[in-house]
Amino acid sequence: MTDPRRRVPRTDALLADPRLAEAAHVLGRALVKSVVAQAQQRARDGQIPPERVADEAVAALPHSAARLRPVINATGVVVHTNLGRAPLSRAAVDAVVTASGATDVEFDLETGRRARRGRGALAALAAAVPSAGGVHVVNNNAAALLLAAMTLAPSKEIVVSRGELIEIGDGFRLPELMQSTGSRFREVGTTNRTHLRDYADALGPDTGFILKVHPSNYTVGGFTSAVGVRDLAALEVPVVADIGSGLLTPHPLLPDEPDATTMLRDGADLVTASGDKLLGGPQAGLLFGDAELIERLRRHPAARALRVDKLTLAALEATLVGPPPPVLQALDADVADLRARAQRLAAQLPRAQVVDCVAAVGGGGAPDVELPSAAVSLPESYARPLRTGTPAVVGRLESGRCLLDLRTVAAADDDLLAKAVLACTS
Ligand SMILES: *Cc1c(COP(=O)(O)O)cnc(C)c1O
Repeated sequence: MTDPRRRVPRTDALLADPRLAEAAHVLGRALVKSVVAQAQQRARDGQIPPERVADEAVAALPHSAARLRPVINATGVVVHTNLGRAPLSRAAVDAVVTASGATDVEFDLETGRRARRGRGALAALAAAVPSAGGVHVVNNNAAALLLAAMTLAPSKEIVVSRGELIEIGDGFRLPELMQSTGSRFREVGTTNRTHLRDYADALGPDTGFILKVHPSNYTVGGFTSAVGVRDLAALEVPVVADIGSGLLTPHPLLPDEPDATTMLRDGADLVTASGDKLLGGPQAGLLFGDAELIERLRRHPAARALRVDKLTLAALEATLVGPPPPVLQALDADVADLRARAQRLAAQLPRAQVVDCVAAVGGGGAPDVELPSAAVSLPESYARPLRTGTPAVVGRLESGRCLLDLRTVAAADDDLLAKAVLACTS
């Protein structure tokens, strides 16, 4: 018998296969070679016959040259931190693709001169929050807060309630983040109760501003008291409100979630928010305030280090002017429609049942809000093959079942979802 190792096709012969040659063009030769080498090794180990090496390599080719893989979010968590927060709308994706080449981000094609960077996104943001005299965009909300501290409280005090000293995830704490600029925190009140006089007593020549933070990932219940922006605004020092979620105007389903328009109307001098939570756009930090203050922030020497790239500006503008992004569609979806979709799906899938369930807003805020939803319920054993399939599907494990919650799945992805489940069945 011949040694099977002898018959394993050579690398250059495999790379001449039209499918692998095309892949080398798109993904890069080095990446395709490493996939080919793994298939050759499997043949040498006797796991596959030598004539299957090329097919194996083709099947194992990655989706793109980056390692990030597309995931269908069937967790029922609308803004899922570990799945990249807000998925972009189709309009935003198209805008990103357009902006990815050479683009007029800082150039006026009419006059041939330099133009204001990101003017389209800034105009869209200003139009969405007319009560803001000025708007600015940075890398994320954390960067927006850094810029506020550096500009308004250099070597000064930031006055904040003890009930609002928050950790935002992955061990990052807002007080530590802002104090890294050299500002100091002046904590007032207690964990559960802070009064207007607590703030008033703490103010003095060292005060930079009062910081009002929305506790977006927890709630304090019971015997509590907090001071709203409207009362703080009467204290004659700047008030910075970190609203977290990025709602620009009130949302009827989220009555306890603050929004930029209301905060400015209540007298906040500066409002900061994320772009990739409830706004449903790209990762970004949004700043709203009066024109003079925003100009000071924009002109701070460190602002350049926090600025966003052209892809973010493109996605943000398209999110603001385009159709509702997936986050808002998920929030606003009608539960009867979700149930109908679940029934249609379950009818095509063996071992599937339709169940009512409860979805959540997630990393975007509103920890108390329960969104009625419907899911396709599968045996728990589906969870792993679904996660590792293509596209990957991440469901929610509940009571020994794997639930695919349709509130966070775009209706246009139902067929893809059905195929992914059927691929686990065969
Ligand atoms: C999420 C959040 C942040 C952090 O925002 P990033 O955009 O992730 O930097 C800050 N403050 C609040 C209240 C938040 O909810």
